[in-house]
Amino acid sequence: MNKNNLLSQLTITTSSAESIIQPNWGAKYGITLAVKRDDLLHPVISGNKWRKLKHALTPAIAAKTQHIISFGGGFSNHLHALGYCCHQLNIQFTAIIRGDYSHNPSPMLQDLICWKTNILYVDRKTYQQRGEPDYLKRLLQLYPDALIIPEGGSQQQALQGVEEIIQELQVQYDYILAPVASGGTLAGLIKGATQNVKHHSCQILGIGVLKGEGYLEQLVRDLLVEDDNNKNWQINHNYHFGGYAKSNHELKEFCDDFYQQTEIKIEPVYSGKLFFALRDLINNGYFPQNSRILALHTGGLQGAR
Ligand SMILES: *Cc1c(COP(=O)(O)O)cnc(C)c1O
Repeated sequence: MNKNNLLSQLTITTSSAESIIQPNWGAKYGITLAVKRDDLLHPVISGNKWRKLKHALTPAIAAKTQHIISFGGGFSNHLHALGYCCHQLNIQFTAIIRGDYSHNPSPMLQDLICWKTNILYVDRKTYQQRGEPDYLKRLLQLYPDALIIPEGGSQQQALQGVEEIIQELQVQYDYILAPVASGGTLAGLIKGATQNVKHHSCQILGIGVLKGEGYLEQLVRDLLVEDDNNKNWQINHNYHFGGYAKSNHELKEFCDDFYQQTEIKIEPVYSGKLFFALRDLINNGYFPQNSRILALHTGGLQGAR
């Protein structure tokens, strides 16, 4: 079997459904709430990570790439998705991990080990150089045949895959909400809505999952390049719960309650903060009466094991 067939095998479904949900806090102000179930795209690969990797892996396979390098934390959904793809595609994968988990690998890292990933643990200072040209040049001297994919998979090619989310929509929405960490998902949604007349007037609202006021907006703008005067988006910074992967009892309890009410699993790092924010914003009257709101469930449940 050639590698292109393998790539199509990775995708169990290419699009996800939009389902209406009715949690007990959703009925206020006649608001319609829908969830786009990208968490169901694939049993292993996290939803938005597949969207972002798809159009990076296709040319890599065509170019017969033998080795891919990327970066992330010890629970990274991106490294998990990419590690699985590389294993399936028979591509050597090197994961550069922030911090030393060698004595205590997370479930994510245990999977990478099973998938024969070359794992390099680096200290925070080294990890901070992950985007610097000099550091990347040195990496390529060590691994001359490797393709480097940035942290979170957020790069130009990522946007195209995320834009497909907008093209799939069955219904027009007034708002689309998504969690924001490295910005690729939000940038793709913004671009997709701007370029699609049907979804032109839709507002894209990002929920920052880390302390990143200003910084997250810049990441998104950098990815949008020529489209950076779009006015159809903003990022809310009130729901990071103290920082990336930080949470509290209230948030964890909210995740459990949400599952009880909707049978949709969420976790406290990304989707928990998204839906918590959504509930709070609805209760505070942020959305006009009768708004139609779509929340993008980006997956990420492997990180909560
Ligand atoms: C990575 C991730 C995000 C954040 O997406 P970015 O494109 O990095 O902003 C959101 N949700 C989940 C589940 C993720 O794994």
